[in-house]
Amino acid sequence: MKRLLGILIFSLMLLFILGGIAQGITVQGGDAQEEAWVMDGITSWPDWWIVDEEWNHPNGISVVFEDIDYGGLAGYGTIKIDSDLGDSPANSINVYEAAIHEFCHEAWWLFSGDWRQVWFDLNPSENPLFWYFSPTEHWAECMRMAMFDPSGFRNNWTQTVLPGTPDDAANVLADWLAVTLKPTITISQPVGSVYQQNHNIYVNWTSTAVTDGDFAIWIRQYPNTWYAPKLVQATGATSYQTIIQLNVPVGINYQVIVGYRPHRDWGTWRSWATSPGMFGVNR
Ligand SMILES: [Zn+2]
Repeated sequence: MKRLLGILIFSLMLLFILGGIAQGITVQGGDAQEEAWVMDGITSWPDWWIVDEEWNHPNGISVVFEDIDYGGLAGYGTIKIDSDLGDSPANSINVYEAAIHEFCHEAWWLFSGDWRQVWFDLNPSENPLFWYFSPTEHWAECMRMAMFDPSGFRNNWTQTVLPGTPDDAANVLADWLAVTLKPTITISQPVGSVYQQNHNIYVNWTSTAVTDGDFAIWIRQYPNTWYAPKLVQATGATSYQTIIQLNVPVGINYQVIVGYRPHRDWGTWRSWATSPGMFGVNR
């Protein structure tokens, strides 16, 4: 009964995970074409939902067109875009680029203060001639190029003017995904073998260092029978070991799955790894 309940609960979780992430993002105040353009632009980046989910926990992300005196502004999930910017493919910033730039600022604030200080230390220069030389603007523009196909942009000037790009852009994106939000996980143990039912086995995995959030360790019988996970808190280590009990039916094609979410009490499992090979369970 306990096991069936575990399967049922996990099936519901899987439905939530795979059934689609709720779009908390809203776009208002522009004309229909501008609003669609901005929404399509942001959601064209495969990991846009991570930013949305983080801000959706308190309030969600809203993009609002307003007649303001500057191109755009981002603050705590709210993005404002100057409605006078226009949407022509001219050599000036348009609403599309401004919205995505501001969206990148929202991503920036998801980092811990410690991480942001590291970036400030790496990028101390301020050049009053180029607004994008300030550390936060540099980061946002690198992220904008890395998140979205640079060839899709009308203004290519950032590619040639920003120091170190496009490497900087690639590093910015990799850091953002790995450092706090979507670490890379690799399972080394168990490997394919045969184990005894109800016995304990070790699960070993490595991860990009993450100091917060949970790992979950599932047993899955291929293709799609899952058993309730064991949770292990992230500690900042790059390797982990835990013990799980093989409280599953006798059978073959078992694997261990490890997932990660950056918060201890909520959020979608974002990073996944599958153990190498498949193992059997004997009586
Ligand atoms: Zn900016």
